[in-house]
Amino acid sequence: MTETNFQKITALREHLGASLAILGHHYQSDEVIRHVDFQGDSLELARRIPRLEARYIVFCGVSFMAETATLLATSGQSVLIPDPTAHCCMAGTAPTAKVAQILEAIAKTGRKVVPLAYVNSSVGVKALCGQYGGSVCTSANAKIMLRWAMGQGDCVLFLPDKNLGMNTASLLGIAPQDQAVVDVRGTARLDETTLSRKLLYWPGVCAIHFRLKPEDVRLVLEDDPRPLIFVHPECDPDVVALADVSASTSGIIRAVDEAPSGATIYIGTEDNLVLRLARRHPNKHIYPLGAGYCSAMLKITESKLLDTLENRDRHQPVLVEPGVAPNARKALETMLDVMEAEA
Ligand code: SF4
Repeated sequence: MTETNFQKITALREHLGASLAILGHHYQSDEVIRHVDFQGDSLELARRIPRLEARYIVFCGVSFMAETATLLATSGQSVLIPDPTAHCCMAGTAPTAKVAQILEAIAKTGRKVVPLAYVNSSVGVKALCGQYGGSVCTSANAKIMLRWAMGQGDCVLFLPDKNLGMNTASLLGIAPQDQAVVDVRGTARLDETTLSRKLLYWPGVCAIHFRLKPEDVRLVLEDDPRPLIFVHPECDPDVVALADVSASTSGIIRAVDEAPSGATIYIGTEDNLVLRLARRHPNKHIYPLGAGYCSAMLKITESKLLDTLENRDRHQPVLVEPGVAPNARKALETMLDVMEAEA
């Protein structure tokens, strides 16, 4: 009988033992996630890396996550991603050169600008954060990190996700007149009004969460009994305003765990996670709000995972340019330190 991919991966994991660690983001498909040693959101997975001793770290997620793992891994470890072209489209909205140009333009006015990058950003952008004394954040710790960043200079440039920035600012009670979205089409457009604000946003969004509109929520709110609405803070602030819970991936998982038996819950985040939660809670009625699947996450398949494991010594490890690594690592370590201090 021919061995299935599942059996081959299981055998390889047994053979490699402690020299292999497979990490997977919650948005991965079931056929991939069943093979991982650690499942989590960006923050949980990043925190896991410094504690890993495995020689091979296989990262089932998108490329910025694997780059983060490389930054936090030791030199003897190889970080492998089953498909190096799995790029997050949100990270792509903030090219490093353009971010550098905007930061320079703000700094030239004499204001101390502190960049705070969502972890969904390139390693080059993270390096700029380290260079300017800023840091990075995830959706799980954005509130803590934005509060920290606001105390570090004259203004914060939050990037690339303006929705996460705005939803977090609203949790911190930052006044609308202190905020502005930067027009990144040319530095000439950084007018005085924009430059006078304390919190500036890069105009990026996640194509998946951006799909959800307030009408989608209003439609299901007409159901009787009224359902619960849980959404990710990458959604538009008008969607978040209608929701019962706005939380990171791990926060949504917790909220579903804690919801009463029999509850009807519509969830506004990536469908792989929503459908997995529905299967895990047969006593609750769980439906996707309609965000759909992340095409970058879907690039990681079981057969690519198998190929990566079989060819682990020939597979190109995820590399980070040595020139940017120290500043990018500094930005990440600042986040881990701030989180440690808060714990
Ligand atoms: S769901 Fe959105 S933010 Fe997350 S990896 Fe996909 S495109 Fe990027």
